[in-house]
Amino acid sequence: MAQDNKRQLHIGIDDTDSRRQGCTTYVAALLLEKLERIGATFADYPGLIRLNPNVPWKTRGNGALCLRIKYDEALDSEIKEETVSLVEKYSDLESKGTDPGIVFFPGAQVPTEITAFAKSAETGIVTLSQAVQLIRKFHAEALGYNTQRGIIGALAAIGETLRGDYTYEIISYRKPENFGTKRRVDTTSIFEMDQKLQPFTFNNVDPEKRRVIITPRGPDPVLFGIRGETAQTVKEAFGMVKPLEPVDRWVIFRSNQGTDAHLKQINALSEAEPYSSIIARATVSRKPEIIPVRHVVFAINDKTAVVDCAAYEPTGALRKIAQQLKVGDEIEVYGAVRKPAAGKPLTLNLEKIKVLHLVAETQEQNPRCPNCGKRLKSMGKNQGFRCENCKAKFPKAQKTKHPKERQLKLGLYVTSPRSQRHLTKPLRRYGQEKHSEDPELIAQWHSAT
Ligand code: ZN
Repeated sequence: MAQDNKRQLHIGIDDTDSRRQGCTTYVAALLLEKLERIGATFADYPGLIRLNPNVPWKTRGNGALCLRIKYDEALDSEIKEETVSLVEKYSDLESKGTDPGIVFFPGAQVPTEITAFAKSAETGIVTLSQAVQLIRKFHAEALGYNTQRGIIGALAAIGETLRGDYTYEIISYRKPENFGTKRRVDTTSIFEMDQKLQPFTFNNVDPEKRRVIITPRGPDPVLFGIRGETAQTVKEAFGMVKPLEPVDRWVIFRSNQGTDAHLKQINALSEAEPYSSIIARATVSRKPEIIPVRHVVFAINDKTAVVDCAAYEPTGALRKIAQQLKVGDEIEVYGAVRKPAAGKPLTLNLEKIKVLHLVAETQEQNPRCPNCGKRLKSMGKNQGFRCENCKAKFPKAQKTKHPKERQLKLGLYVTSPRSQRHLTKPLRRYGQEKHSEDPELIAQWHSAT
């Protein structure tokens, strides 16, 4: 019966970090500890929601956070006040481009208009005024700082309830006295964990460069983060990685990372809009060229539009695949649409290529001598052929065409882990997609020392 007096609240926060300090997940970690001490309980794991990676004003990772809590009504103002003061304390408000936002959204259910808003914020461009209108309509509360742009992400994080595919990330944080120093984690233990727990964790290492990618660079408080399919798995993985410096706290987040949530299937290339990320089918219409510095660019056409496709150097294996495409090949492309320079076509920054159909490749050979069977020699362009063995001449003979096997194979190719966006679904995750389960919180999903 106590349940009836419980209030439910979704708290969204975004854009507290700057290039020089902070991380919004860290603010969320401190906040959830504080809210738990006050007496709130959690209806879900904290949500770590990555938004459209292709917006021109994005912060580093463009991640927003959501806490979904239950509490006694009497705690309402204390919870909101503590949230505001904690976000203010840990936001880099003096930094240009840091525009924090907080949204308090009341009620158990998140309306479909808010989930639709979240989807738009993942795949395209949404505005602050759209966010503010929704906040008014549903009697939510919002606070914005500087340009207030963080309100957009805060509301989107609330709206992304992860009822489709989702993943987990366990993030561990450093002691404040170690912020800004070189991170110390035993590299071998990371490679061992990756081997042991594949395919249930992902993007731990870049196999091409033999490089660890779970530790960020830069001054933020994160020691390392491990992404995976279940809360139990990422916690197990965390236990296998040996930190060589003290861990201050850790939290398991539920996330849209690694789910391709940013990609929208379009039916015609003419529908491709700058700043969106798309999936489209088309035919290669201009052969791949290498442009400085080691980028590969080719064009595709589907009769509605021509779009340039670029595989940049860090895409690694994907760049090598792009290089092997031929005019006429049918492919499905995945990537971010860049705003074109004046007079230039749209360019797609490739994240994935699915090769659907390859044109037959032929090689030409000189014909054989009808008398002795030896391969004929050319007498010059359109001059015919002669046989060096029996000296016969064949002025009308033509080169013959033979099918040649393509090196490239049909299938899906994904950019190397080091250049994957947070949202890119890695190959390892294919076949492990989840749908609409209500996740149950495991006994211990966060801890602080
Ligand atoms: Zn001959």
